[in-house]
Amino acid sequence: MTDVLTPVLTDNWGDDRAWTLASYEARGGYAAVDTAFAMAPDDVINEVKESGLRGRGGAGFPTGMKWGFIPQDNPKPKYLVVNADESEPGTCKDIPLMMASPHTLVEGVIISSYAIRANKAFIYIRGEVLHVVRRVQRAVQEAYLAGHLGKDIHGSGFDLDVVVHAGAGAYICGEETALLEGLEGRRGQPRLRPPFPAVAGLYASPTVINNVESIASVPSIIGHGHGWFSSMGTEKSKGFGIFSLSGHVQKPGQYEAPLGITLRTLIDLAGGIREGHDLKFWTPGGSSTPLLTAEHLDMPLDFEGVGAAGSMLGTRALQIFDDTTCVVRATLRWTEFYKHESCGKCTPCREGTWWLVQTLTALEKGQGTEADLDLLLDQCDNILGRSFCALADGAVSPIMSSIKYFRDEYVAHLTEGGCPFDPARSTAWA
Ligand code: NAD
Repeated sequence: MTDVLTPVLTDNWGDDRAWTLASYEARGGYAAVDTAFAMAPDDVINEVKESGLRGRGGAGFPTGMKWGFIPQDNPKPKYLVVNADESEPGTCKDIPLMMASPHTLVEGVIISSYAIRANKAFIYIRGEVLHVVRRVQRAVQEAYLAGHLGKDIHGSGFDLDVVVHAGAGAYICGEETALLEGLEGRRGQPRLRPPFPAVAGLYASPTVINNVESIASVPSIIGHGHGWFSSMGTEKSKGFGIFSLSGHVQKPGQYEAPLGITLRTLIDLAGGIREGHDLKFWTPGGSSTPLLTAEHLDMPLDFEGVGAAGSMLGTRALQIFDDTTCVVRATLRWTEFYKHESCGKCTPCREGTWWLVQTLTALEKGQGTEADLDLLLDQCDNILGRSFCALADGAVSPIMSSIKYFRDEYVAHLTEGGCPFDPARSTAWA
């Protein structure tokens, strides 16, 4: 069974010194930088394009294509920004990656900056995870001292400075333009797109913003060649990715596997669902992606497969819930998160998420009538696609999908006058 795993980024996570420069270099680290420097920057971009790598932050936009959008005739400086503001509920891959192997990220930053002709790169890390900020800072410092960063890297003539920036702990700052606002010293709120950051990003200059896992995948692609990467995965979703399993499985954790693997296989790898229980619902890519159920166990976990099932692959944050979970309560909990994290810039999100929480809270308590379920769906309709950024779309995803699959459970709250899963009211909690 374990032969379906493809440990590349996670390969050395068992070694508690894997984060040091000595360990990274001993396993061939920073050699891909020289491979890249022997190529023209455009050839590095083409190599990443050919590999088929798609953004690992959730949206799956082709990475090489994004790099190719940087207008090289623009005289302004170019920037690379690594989005390390991982905050999507259930998503827990970038933080362990940076803790276990920060030099993989730094090496990816060097190669990616070289490709887009950026001499300055920023790693924007979620503010609450100070231990991660310190670890990446330490890796950057080590890389400077060893000549992997700074002036004339490896004698190539290419200069690169890297700044590690700690965010202030707002979910919205994972949205790329809000992140840029934060980096520029302003309140983290999204900007209107277009222009996309590739054209006018940090300090209104051409900027590539990529997720940690995307950038960390680059050294292995350059080191092994695009064909190696594209030989894994499915037709349109190439390569491997880190799948984070949490919740009601025996062995929660990160499982690195080719895109297209099924949830059934991943759950088997994770030792199965909690003993004596069955899968009830799950998120393919965090709570911003519509919920799925046991009927989707054999669906390929790639961008197309999950999309065809009416959801999104997102960040591959597989939150697994068994039959002891009240879907209404889980949905309310997520909705409270989105209400709390709404930046307040646009009305549908600021006011809408507040109303969603009010309506859902009443339903969860068994108050109201079935008409309130339609009211809730109407509120979702008035939010979806009408907000400034994707935060509010994410907020309605668990609500709409939970009603789609579990309308009966919502109705049961109303007919029973409370939660049927409440331990004080029933024996459904095992
Ligand atoms: P998007 O599809 O709008 O954009 C994806 C990327 O492609 C961006 O970098 C964007 O600048 C670029 N892009 C798209 N069209 C472009 C064009 N025409 N020209 C140049 N560049 C272009 O998605 P998004 O709103 O940036 O992100 C939404 C995703 O974020 C969701 O899928 C969700 O899964 C994910 N997400 C992740 C986290 C996390 O913690 N990792 C948290 C919340 C949401």
